[in-house]
Amino acid sequence: MTQKTVTAGVILIGDELLSGRTRDTNLSTIARWLEPLGVQVGEARIVADDDDVISETVRAFSDRFDYVFTTGGIGPTHDDITADCIAAAFGLGISERGDAIEMLRERYDLSELNAARRRMARIPDGASLIKNPVSQAPGFQTKNVFTLAGVPSIMRGMLPDIEHRIKGGAKVYSRTVTAKGIGEGDAAAPLVEIEKAYEGVSIGSYPFFNAELRGVNFVARGRDEVVLEEVEGRLRALVAGLME
Ligand code: AMP
Ligand code: MG
Repeated sequence: MTQKTVTAGVILIGDELLSGRTRDTNLSTIARWLEPLGVQVGEARIVADDDDVISETVRAFSDRFDYVFTTGGIGPTHDDITADCIAAAFGLGISERGDAIEMLRERYDLSELNAARRRMARIPDGASLIKNPVSQAPGFQTKNVFTLAGVPSIMRGMLPDIEHRIKGGAKVYSRTVTAKGIGEGDAAAPLVEIEKAYEGVSIGSYPFFNAELRGVNFVARGRDEVVLEEVEGRLRALVAGLME
């Protein structure tokens, strides 16, 4: 029986990502974390701190993908609008939740829990909380959408409380063959032949350049490890032939 492909969409929220001030690292963390669970990222989008854009993207991604991850915009300041956008995307109410306040109380005394910090306990109706062992302010799950912090270490800390909520599908394996000293143009035609010969396998060619070296990583991806092993052999033979 062939297993179904399970997909995820990732929405990275924040003006600072679009201006180039902050370099995104959350996509690769999420995609690498999902891979062994049998979930493949189908699309990632970087969006501004703009409520209509966030809501529309959440709605569209929620329809298109099995799971959606958002990062960013759940802090205490005025530009942290993600929770409201998620509620708006699904036509849900939103209010301060006692269980979220309790989590914040692990970090903040009552006197420190000002209006700004209490914002982090505003959760869309019916959402379930995602634990945050790093700074306590929780993430939350609304339908198939997981809303996580933007700060990479906090975002990473939330992933363990999501793992049990995900039902993965077919795992995708990969094999990499590195060819130093050749250009990818030399390999282009035989690569097509190899890919054609093995259904369900895709081959990517990723050149690298530095001062001393040029070369290519050929990465074969597919669901059948036995077939991949064969493809790896073909790639090694191809590289050996080109090095002669
Ligand atoms: P936010 O939760 O949107 O207020 O983001 C808090 C901080 O996390 C930002 O100031 C960024 O430095 C960082 N951050 C947010 N999103 C990302 C991302 N996708 N990749 C790396 N860092 C991020
Ligand atoms: Mg932000």
